[in-house]
Amino acid sequence: MKFLRWLQEMGFPLSGGLPTLRFFIEVALLAIFLYAVLRFLRSTRGSNVLRGLTYFLVAAFLGITVLGKFPEVPVIEEILRHVTPALVIVLAVLFQPELRQGISRFGTGFLDLLRIGRSGGEEETLSKLASAAQRMAKERIGALIAIERYVSLAPYYENAVSIDAPVSSILLETIFYPGSPLHDGAVIVREDQVLAAACLFPLTENPEVQRRMGTRHRAALGLTEETDAVTLVVSEETGQISLCAGGKLYRKVPFDLLEDRLMELLKSKAPAPSSRSRESMASEITESAVIDASTATPSTEKAATS
Ligand code: ATP
Ligand code: MG
Repeated sequence: MKFLRWLQEMGFPLSGGLPTLRFFIEVALLAIFLYAVLRFLRSTRGSNVLRGLTYFLVAAFLGITVLGKFPEVPVIEEILRHVTPALVIVLAVLFQPELRQGISRFGTGFLDLLRIGRSGGEEETLSKLASAAQRMAKERIGALIAIERYVSLAPYYENAVSIDAPVSSILLETIFYPGSPLHDGAVIVREDQVLAAACLFPLTENPEVQRRMGTRHRAALGLTEETDAVTLVVSEETGQISLCAGGKLYRKVPFDLLEDRLMELLKSKAPAPSSRSRESMASEITESAVIDASTATPSTEKAATS
């Protein structure tokens, strides 16, 4: 009963000392909200910071509760009153990338629900993209192509070079041909149009990728961490093709499966691939952001589906 009185003092709606329906609804909504926030943050770069922060908040809460048992702690109360508003700003700054990502994903989910926007992935366009990528890979021409889905890529092409021409293999190969004034940077494709070239994408801060890969691959992955776009990279160094979506990089995509893989990623509802077919690229159980798409065998598929 003491607990119920304490809850009442905290402002929870209780009638005659008993919890009302509103009380349960409020607690349930709060729990769902916290669960969603924690689940989202767990999958982002801020997870370590979040763990540290949780420990800190639990320790602070325990400390304050213990101190509350003593009659008066005016100094600490005064400090807390001044620090609390600043803490909100500190949290917003600390989790700025996560917040941005979260708002963007929220927008994606909402548009998905209303079925507004583009899903990309018309077969003819994909086949042109795939054949251009294969040819560039054989000739070791580096390329980075982003395919826009629901989230607009406008912030990334506003300062780039506008193209506005139908997708064609020859256009893509011309853009990325070494020495061409537009070959540096990335191309953005919307539906069947090449929107812009020489675009700059944000680089991933994923330490695993930072260690192992250069800026082209880091930019390809970085964009998919902030938007629902699918990116295709052709490595100048190795001639290998990689695909990125939902913050995962699938490298060494076999040439003959490229078009299907692209389609699979573009048609998946979530930014990350959800298909678990025999042809599926790789096991989703891996925590790694870099997945070898050439070694997906029936055994890894079995592990993923079990
Ligand atoms: P590769 O395997 O082709 O060598 P890489 O991942 O090792 O690729 P770099 O060798 O550093 O990457 O590739 C540099 C090229 O990547 C640049 O010339 C430019 O065209 C492209 N690039 C670098 N940063 C960005 C960026 N932020 N956005 C788009 N493209 C970028
Ligand atoms: Mg390189």
